[in-house]
Amino acid sequence: MNLILLGPPGAGKGTQAKRLEDRYGIAQISTGDMLRAEVKSGSAIGREAKAIMERGELVPDAIITAMLAARVARPDCAQGFVLDGFPRTVPQAEALDLMLREKGLALDHVIELQVDDAALVERISGRFTCARCGEGYHDRFKRPRTPGVCDVCGGTEFVRRADDKAETVKARLDAYHRQTAPLLPYYAAQGKLRVVDGMAPMEEVARQIDAILEGGGRAPGPPPTQT
Ligand code: ADP
Ligand code: ADP
Ligand code: ZN
Repeated sequence: MNLILLGPPGAGKGTQAKRLEDRYGIAQISTGDMLRAEVKSGSAIGREAKAIMERGELVPDAIITAMLAARVARPDCAQGFVLDGFPRTVPQAEALDLMLREKGLALDHVIELQVDDAALVERISGRFTCARCGEGYHDRFKRPRTPGVCDVCGGTEFVRRADDKAETVKARLDAYHRQTAPLLPYYAAQGKLRVVDGMAPMEEVARQIDAILEGGGRAPGPPPTQT
């Protein structure tokens, strides 16, 4: 099963992708996480991406698509993958279509998480993760069960992303609306787009996604009128 989770920064893509990885045995591929690892290691890609990411802009398509092609070829993608944060531009989507066709693969669903911009700012500004295992948390919506201790690994160090500050969030939302939102009609035209209410609590979003994967789900557009 090959999926894309599409949605603005803070919509819940990472939260749901991680859950899908555990539940369906497919690989979570987060281009944001991959880029942050490159930055941390000080690689050539990381040096080029760092300033761009800090400004909240998109890293050039050529870098991202090359990185993704190498990632999809890894053995943990044999059962499929869930793309989280890729594609973000129409050229990236076209490159993905080509890459999948060459491998004899196809996308099963593209799932849009719909969240209002106002809610996104709150989601992003409250986001933090375990420094040891990467588990995601939120100051208000998902606090560790024991304050200061990771539920998953018992770690006691947490980190916040440099680009999760209010000034940068606006640039990231602008980039989403200008460069990524055009992917919605792109995938709708392929008949692949499905929509979930990303404003709902995490468990409800999860339920809506599972309903799509297990057949059915809501296609975009107004609900059917009653006759
Ligand atoms: P994305 O990967 O799309 O940027 P995340 O999955 O990192 O989004 O979620 C952003 C923040 O919002 C995280 O702190 C996460 O715990 C929280 N979050 C995710 N889904 C929901 C939800 N449905 N309701 C409330 N908070 C959520
Ligand atoms: P979020 O989870 O908040 O949506 P990500 O972790 O996916 O954010 O991405 C963080 C940053 O990494 C982006 O603002 C952008 O600079 C860069 N980035 C990640 N994925 C891509 C991509 N597919 N194309 C271009 N830039 C990307
Ligand atoms: Zn942890």
